[in-house]
Amino acid sequence: MKKTYDVVIIGAGHNGLTAAAMLARSGRSVAVLDRRATAGGMIGGGDASLAHLIYNLSGSEIGALGLRDRLSKVDTVSLSATGDHVIVGDGGVTFADGRAHPETAEYRALVARLTKFAGLLAPLAEAPPPAFEGGMLSRSGMRELLRLGRLGLGLKFMGKADMREFLRILLSNAYDVLRDELDDGPLSGALAADAVRGSFSGPRSPGSVFSLMYRLGQGGQVYTASNGMDEVAEAYAKRATDAGAAVILNLGVQRIVVENDQVTGVVADDGTQIAARTVLSGAGPLSTATMAGIANFDAETVRRARNHRCKGTTAKVNFRLGGMPTVAGLGANHLRHRLVVAPTPDYVERSFNPAKYGEIPDHPTLEAVVTGPESAPLLSVNASHVPADLRGGWTKAARTKLSKTVLQTLAAHGVGGLEGAKSVLVASPADIQTDFGAPGGHWHHGEMGLDQILTLRPIIGMSRYRAGPDGLYLCGASAHPGGDITGAPGRNAAAQVIKDGVA
Ligand SMILES: Cc1cc2nc3c(=O)[nH]c(=O)nc-3n(C[C@H](O)[C@H](O)[C@H](O)COP(=O)(O)OP(=O)(O)OC[C@H]3O[C@@H](n4cnc5c(N)ncnc54)[C@H](O)[C@@H]3O)c2cc1C
Repeated sequence: MKKTYDVVIIGAGHNGLTAAAMLARSGRSVAVLDRRATAGGMIGGGDASLAHLIYNLSGSEIGALGLRDRLSKVDTVSLSATGDHVIVGDGGVTFADGRAHPETAEYRALVARLTKFAGLLAPLAEAPPPAFEGGMLSRSGMRELLRLGRLGLGLKFMGKADMREFLRILLSNAYDVLRDELDDGPLSGALAADAVRGSFSGPRSPGSVFSLMYRLGQGGQVYTASNGMDEVAEAYAKRATDAGAAVILNLGVQRIVVENDQVTGVVADDGTQIAARTVLSGAGPLSTATMAGIANFDAETVRRARNHRCKGTTAKVNFRLGGMPTVAGLGANHLRHRLVVAPTPDYVERSFNPAKYGEIPDHPTLEAVVTGPESAPLLSVNASHVPADLRGGWTKAARTKLSKTVLQTLAAHGVGGLEGAKSVLVASPADIQTDFGAPGGHWHHGEMGLDQILTLRPIIGMSRYRAGPDGLYLCGASAHPGGDITGAPGRNAAAQVIKDGVA
């Protein structure tokens, strides 16, 4: 391993790897260090992969990663305890028995409207958040104004009615927007679940429409990786190494070295010192500031980093089954699609309530995917609204309770063949924080609330990727625009480094 690079990146999550590929292509020497044995962060790692679906990756990124033939579009099956499962996909909106759903037109109109609004916000996600550091009339200020102006123009060209609607719903909650258009049921329930997946919020929380739009930013299609999520993680790592970056695994960063308010390198867990004038961190704002030394940040920024809202609420619960499961009333051809337990928006809101008090919900909102061979498939489940700070702690009994609750909830919504299910992973948000360094074990490395998006993400004083001393940047999901498999924070951070002309 070399001891001097232009850039060191802390964390080989897909965002760190995206930044590495861009910076290496710009001619900089780049090393990416990760404490874990595999690259990809929360994507990949075999049966222990946390991410199991791709719902927010742009078509151009899918192509650039060489994944176009490796991803399969899947339908969303919103399960119902009465067997009236609703399927949303290329075939339209139907019940599992083939009947057309009576709200197809309303659903299509609502999703088309939200997708159109999401498209307006997309240019904001694909670049650093707006800032007017040099004043509005400076050259950079004018550029920012132009960018915001384009959003304004987009709004204007939308027409008065749409513009009013955009501004009305942007700050409102998903529950009201969904229930204005759709009845209470699995169709509106699935959208309510999408609005809050990964967040410490329910569909009635303010800002949940914004997160729903974030999810629809690439059109809302959902994909599985035909050969498993490891292949997606490998594609990110390969793109970085092909560009010339060194990806060094099993080696964490303990400390970021700062001299005279300038980053000069990192110290690894084993004491190895690596010199670099630029360091990008895929960790959250507080752990990045801690690694670099709190004294190198102004007191207000440290206070904000300490108050960063990042309570994770999604647990990962995986089971190995003795054969393919069944779903009463659902054809076998849909078993490998996205199975969602969110029978109504109220169900999703109620599943959030216990999390506020540090309890596991008895009726959680779930998203399940079946992968692997038919003889021994893996049932991969994302369980929403499972608190990091569980009252009584994450004891063995608490884990068993969570596993059982997940199986019972699936069974209550028609899923059969779970009798011999062997639990292979129960990762609480607390475990996710320990194993991946994700702040609070949070899906987005920090809440996507209205107080922590755009210029406020992750916190004032660290937005626009720069963090404290010269040469230090954030590049992970805690930064704008947030989490999911998008690579956007990594790409924007690398663009900022290139723009700043450092290293
Ligand atoms: C349970 C769960 C399920 C999810 N499912 C999905 C899904 O199906 N689809 C989807 O799009 N998104 C999903 N997500 C969200 C998605 O996985 C994250 O938003 C995304 O992985 C963030 O990417 P990242 O590169 O910013 O960070 P991460 O993937 O968290 O990677 C950060 C990396 O940094 C490393 N690191 C941290 N500190 C240090 C250090 N000091 N030294 C060295 N290395 C360090 C970690 O080891 C880790 O590998 C899920 C999240 C969770 C919690």
